[in-house]
Amino acid sequence: MTECIFCKIVNKEIPSEIVYENDQVVAFKDINPVAPVHILIVPKVHVKSIMELDTSSNILNGVAEAIQKIAKDQNIACEGFRVVNNCGTLAGQSVDHLHFHLLGGRAMQWPPG
Ligand code: 5GP
Ligand code: ZN
Repeated sequence: MTECIFCKIVNKEIPSEIVYENDQVVAFKDINPVAPVHILIVPKVHVKSIMELDTSSNILNGVAEAIQKIAKDQNIACEGFRVVNNCGTLAGQSVDHLHFHLLGGRAMQWPPG
């Protein structure tokens, strides 16, 4: 049995607030949001990080479809939003299952800290 928290969410073994799902990804609300809209988009298969992603897979297509649908649903498509992937230690990746943060609903700073 997997110990990966995001695999457990994907498999509905632990609860989460799922907002969108397609063949490639599940998207759910971050448990510790840092913006009014903070959604995590996660592949259904376990991939540790973007460095391990099979580039012949269509996972990123599923991610892009999720971003477009969720941004419209959450009414942040027009005003703008940010998509973040933290990869590895220096970037602060804390869950070793590939995920993209979709952040919106407030002004963002650049560069990030
Ligand atoms: P990272 O720092 O790896 O880029 O982001 C991991 C994110 O996962 C964090 O924003 C954290 O709040 C979120 N997270 C960690 N555990 C859980 C959980 O059990 N449920 C949900 N919904 N989010 C989680
Ligand atoms: Zn996993």
